[in-house]
Amino acid sequence: MFSYRHAFHAGNHADVLKHFITIQLMQYMNQKDAAYSYIDTHAGAGVYALDSAFASKNAEYDTGIGPLWDRTDLPAPIKEYVDLVKGLNPSGKMRYYPGSPFVADLVGREHDRLRLFEMHPADAKILADNFRKLDDHAAQQGIRPTTRGKRVLVTRGDGFAALKALLPPPSRRALVLIDPPYEDKTDYKKVKDTLAEALVRFPTGTYAVWYPLLVRMESRQFADKLKQLQCSDWLNVVLTTHTPMPDGFGLHSSGMFILNPPYTLEPMLKEVMPWLVKALGKDAGAKFVLESGKPTTVRNSPARR
Ligand code: SAM
Repeated sequence: MFSYRHAFHAGNHADVLKHFITIQLMQYMNQKDAAYSYIDTHAGAGVYALDSAFASKNAEYDTGIGPLWDRTDLPAPIKEYVDLVKGLNPSGKMRYYPGSPFVADLVGREHDRLRLFEMHPADAKILADNFRKLDDHAAQQGIRPTTRGKRVLVTRGDGFAALKALLPPPSRRALVLIDPPYEDKTDYKKVKDTLAEALVRFPTGTYAVWYPLLVRMESRQFADKLKQLQCSDWLNVVLTTHTPMPDGFGLHSSGMFILNPPYTLEPMLKEVMPWLVKALGKDAGAKFVLESGKPTTVRNSPARR
């Protein structure tokens, strides 16, 4: 049940796609003063040491943040992401990689709320400890008030089950990131069911789902199933870094599916994705897919529900 550890994958091409888009979604939310909730249903450990035994086992960061580190021609949204990672590495050497909770902590403002769920006992503890260390450091430096007790809540538990109790958020503004391991194929159905319920409770939220493209049927059909959900618009972006191996080994493609995306996201991705494919592509199979639309099924009228 607890075999997945994100530390093995930290900073890979899938993290690049997920985290640079998360930054852009939050930057868009930051344009209005009103507070919002960032809800991370599958938060992971928060920060990863790239020289740890986990991360260096397959050095997956070499497929993602690694090749971007020294580039001087980064498009603005990728530069914002790389600069954020560099901020965690003041020595200039690439040692620490921020998971989604730390990305959100750095981009969110003091009055925004982070609600983080992690089921793995070890990762949930590391995540809470990481925020505690940050808090202690801030208190020592007098950098900012120690508001993390209220601002950031880390809960060990099932993020799928927890989401509905947080919706709608008091501020009526939220970004929800759903990023399960998908090692268990029931995750695909859980994501769809959780989103269907969330959209009933809070139809105007922005929901971002990361997913892998694998040979299993659930993975291949996943985006089409999400397109049926009753949101106002959806956007799907897939990054492929290489031709799939004949044995199916390794992650060649992953996607971000966003429900109710900001209107700025698609034009930004049109500009950035061709550059990212060139920067991270390993062979002629490297490519991206970018599509958007409205739900594919007709909404039931309230009388028929
Ligand atoms: N979002 C993180 C990031 O971008 O840095 C990475 C998350 S990782 C892909 C998935 C995490 O979900 C793992 O740490 C795993 O332990 C956790 N997990 C698995 N099932 C869960 C569940 N039902 N609720 C909450 N966390 C879960």
